[in-house]
Amino acid sequence: MASILTGTMSPSHTTTTMRLFNTLSGEVDELVPSDGKELRMYACGPTVYDYGHIGNFRTFLEIDVLRRFLKLTGMSLRHVMNITDVDDKIIRNSGAAGLPIGEYTAKYVSAFFEDLDALGVERPEVIARATENIDRMVQLIQKLAEAGAAYRTDDGSWYFRIKSFPEYGKLSKKDLSGMEDGARVDVDEYEKDSARDFALWKAAKPGETSWETPIGRGRPGWHIECSAMSMEFLGDSFDLHAGGEDLMFPHHENEIAQSESVTHKPLARHWMHVRFLLVDGKKMSKSEGNFFTLRDLLLKGYKASAIRLALISVPYRHQLNFTFDGLTDATAAIDRLRTFNDRLMKGAFPAGENPDVMTAAKKARDEYFAALANDLNTAEARAPIFELVRVANTAMDQGKFHQSDREAVRTVLADFDAVFAVIADRDAEPTRRAVEWAKAEGREAEVAPELLAQVSLTDEAINALLAERDQAKKRRDFARADQIRRELMEKGIVIEDSKDGVRWKRR
Ligand code: AMP
Ligand code: ZN
Repeated sequence: MASILTGTMSPSHTTTTMRLFNTLSGEVDELVPSDGKELRMYACGPTVYDYGHIGNFRTFLEIDVLRRFLKLTGMSLRHVMNITDVDDKIIRNSGAAGLPIGEYTAKYVSAFFEDLDALGVERPEVIARATENIDRMVQLIQKLAEAGAAYRTDDGSWYFRIKSFPEYGKLSKKDLSGMEDGARVDVDEYEKDSARDFALWKAAKPGETSWETPIGRGRPGWHIECSAMSMEFLGDSFDLHAGGEDLMFPHHENEIAQSESVTHKPLARHWMHVRFLLVDGKKMSKSEGNFFTLRDLLLKGYKASAIRLALISVPYRHQLNFTFDGLTDATAAIDRLRTFNDRLMKGAFPAGENPDVMTAAKKARDEYFAALANDLNTAEARAPIFELVRVANTAMDQGKFHQSDREAVRTVLADFDAVFAVIADRDAEPTRRAVEWAKAEGREAEVAPELLAQVSLTDEAINALLAERDQAKKRRDFARADQIRRELMEKGIVIEDSKDGVRWKRR
């Protein structure tokens, strides 16, 4: 494939102001760094007890779209993401597997980062692991106890007293008038409508992983992890806190209560929540048979770029109904963009410009930036890009496309790809890795047959076969030339002969 696209930060768009819906205010607010320099943001990361599913990745991808767009507009970021590497499920699963929790989670931590890489999700500036920050959590619980917001129960666990924080419910706007003082819950995820005093620290149970600390032997609750680590790496009060919509209550509400009871400052000024993904119109669940990890889709033969585009094309505040038709559409859309980009970069165009193309490029760029700046409207942002491709293709067909047009269009595509990250083709590696992984895990039967053949062919092997085909043609051995073409086609390699030579791509 043609050029590696790199995003350009044009001076005209460094003044773009991002407007993003804020769950706390209930309005679309400007998102700017409060210190005028660097946007400090915290996004809740994965609980590493299994492979990530496409719902998880929708949330991480939408946050990546935000992050990439803010950078494109010239903003500096300090983005922190936690890894929850101790919780009820991890303790239960590692116990069942007979492994220490660190060994159990290591596999899923590296799988998670491999999956993020496959999807083109950039790494946050800081990755904070819960098990490496236990002392910060203990200190915060001590401060809560001093402030009268935490109490210890007979078994040695610690709880947050919700009645001590009258603002409880301000994020999720829940009416908590019927709340009972002292009613407790010690599981991390509880009923969506009931507020209960929640566990800050769980006393050690025999055989469970625990830490010896000044507040006793035990382990942290899930909510305290995020309060302690966000404040450790971003300060008492920061710009943006993000996560999936399920985290709004109780997780984020609890984070606010824990932090603000001690600091008396807003934990975060802006809160972003990504809506849940449905599959074929239903909540994803293993029993419904509509549950997919990223790896499941890669093994079916879908490209990582198509999965990325399908998951980000619906704006983050809208419900995304994931379907295989949607994935096929995304594949076709990327094909169109890549074919056009190839034509743009490799074509020979005369000097000069076509004012119509120049105008179309400027319009596309303005609309693209405006759509993303308007609460990250990815659907409206991609439309003008496809329209520009149409206009430019027509101009090329009519011989009315020039070198300056190429520069203008190239810049727009680079800005598009700085956020959408689907034109530059990085698909071969994730697919190859997924197949390797399936083999190593004894899940080869799940790999689409054409994929197995395809990944066994390296780029070098393809180029060598094409060189042989070229030689065969020169000596007029067309039977051999056709045979090579057929063989490659069967392995998913598409060959295009043009006057500039032979091009190939993986289907
Ligand atoms: P977890 O690993 O379960 O803590 O989740 C990691 C992230 O994925 C959180 O921000 C969740 O809100 C988000 N998430 C979980 N399920 C979905 C879903 N079906 N759609 C969108 N986001 C989800
Ligand atoms: Zn969190």
